[in-house]
Amino acid sequence: MSDCCSAPGLLPFEQALANMLTQVSPITETISLAIGDAQHYVLAQDIASPLNVPPHDNSAMDGYAFALDSLMSDKTLTLVGRSMAGAPFQGVCQAGECIRIMTGAKIPDCCDSVEMQENVTANDEQITFLQEKSFGSHVRNAGEDINIGQQVLQSGHRLAAVDIGVLASLGVAEVKVYRKLKVALIATGDELKSPGQALRVGDIYESNSFVLAVMLSKLNVDVIDFGIIEDDFEAIKAAFISADEQADAVISSGGVSVGDADYTKTVLDELGEIGFWKIAMKPGKPFAFGKLANSVFFGLPGNPVSALVTFHQLALVALTKMQNAQPLKRTHLIVKCSADLRKSPGRMDFQRGILAVNEAGENVVSSTGAQGSGILSSLVKANCFIVLPSEQGRVKAGEMVNVQLFDQFL
Ligand code: AMP
Ligand code: MG
Repeated sequence: MSDCCSAPGLLPFEQALANMLTQVSPITETISLAIGDAQHYVLAQDIASPLNVPPHDNSAMDGYAFALDSLMSDKTLTLVGRSMAGAPFQGVCQAGECIRIMTGAKIPDCCDSVEMQENVTANDEQITFLQEKSFGSHVRNAGEDINIGQQVLQSGHRLAAVDIGVLASLGVAEVKVYRKLKVALIATGDELKSPGQALRVGDIYESNSFVLAVMLSKLNVDVIDFGIIEDDFEAIKAAFISADEQADAVISSGGVSVGDADYTKTVLDELGEIGFWKIAMKPGKPFAFGKLANSVFFGLPGNPVSALVTFHQLALVALTKMQNAQPLKRTHLIVKCSADLRKSPGRMDFQRGILAVNEAGENVVSSTGAQGSGILSSLVKANCFIVLPSEQGRVKAGEMVNVQLFDQFL
């Protein structure tokens, strides 16, 4: 029986992640933003409600407000006024009287219940109630959504659409948030050309920086794109120095595997304290991580699937910590595998899977097919990673496996 130790020299995935997280620190600088501009930012303050929401008891229906006691003696009440949303009833009502009321309008102090207009007959000022009512019918109570003083959002919460709505409903116009991180992207390789350029023999199109820039934009960071840097010591050094001066984090792809990593590795050895790790994960074994003079450095493998998976599973988690955001929550399910999966013990696999419901109504997962680390199209059809632990060998159809659903970044 093999385990991770059968792959000597490889760093277990969990250890790599933990090691990386202990080395990155959250930023401290905050800014104030109008709530309409604050979507996707991370809150730098707790938000307690300055008021009750709703602020007063109000009607959930268009109809008539009354005191339940009045209905006990007589089913017909006299209409003496009205309460509209934004224009509450100003007078007082007595026993035997009722008030016309609209949805959202304040319940007059003299009333406690509402009947909808469909359930009464109106004869001039005489309103006859056709059904038995109970105390508080169709009344939305003050504070039933949020109580005054209640903590509504916590520091570290990333603001989504509904949060902006909640802030508005509390009357909060501005919030303190952490500033955006600045992230520099560098693609290395003499063979790389940008889409739109002509390919010479031996060239390929550069795709990593495009994938990473989109994923980073979903993280709400400012991307500084350094484009493609040729495999040349001085060019790489100049790019890394400039990136480090401008950014909180520098992310490069390519040139970190042993053998072809010469320039990147020599440059990084000169500029900072970078660990060149071999992580027991597939795809994505080579990975560099450490600190430059001012920034944190992530060196992703060049192979597009490896770059994407290591960015998603490792760098994104660290960047989230740097943003002060609550840790990413990823959804895992244990589901049945519908066909055999190839796997050798020694590395943790992130196979690309398709999770679906079979004819029997069960969740089942299958592989997207060829899993080579250069096959970016293996991710196009996928909607999850099949996460297979390091010691796991081949998986047989019908066995249960752990899947991680694709999140908002993929
Ligand atoms: P490297 O780690 O530089 O040896 O690159 C490994 C493989 O990934 C090679 O086949 C490269 O051509 C390819 N590669 C490196 N960088 C990129 C990139 N930015 N976009 C697409 N493919 C890349
Ligand atoms: Mg290269």
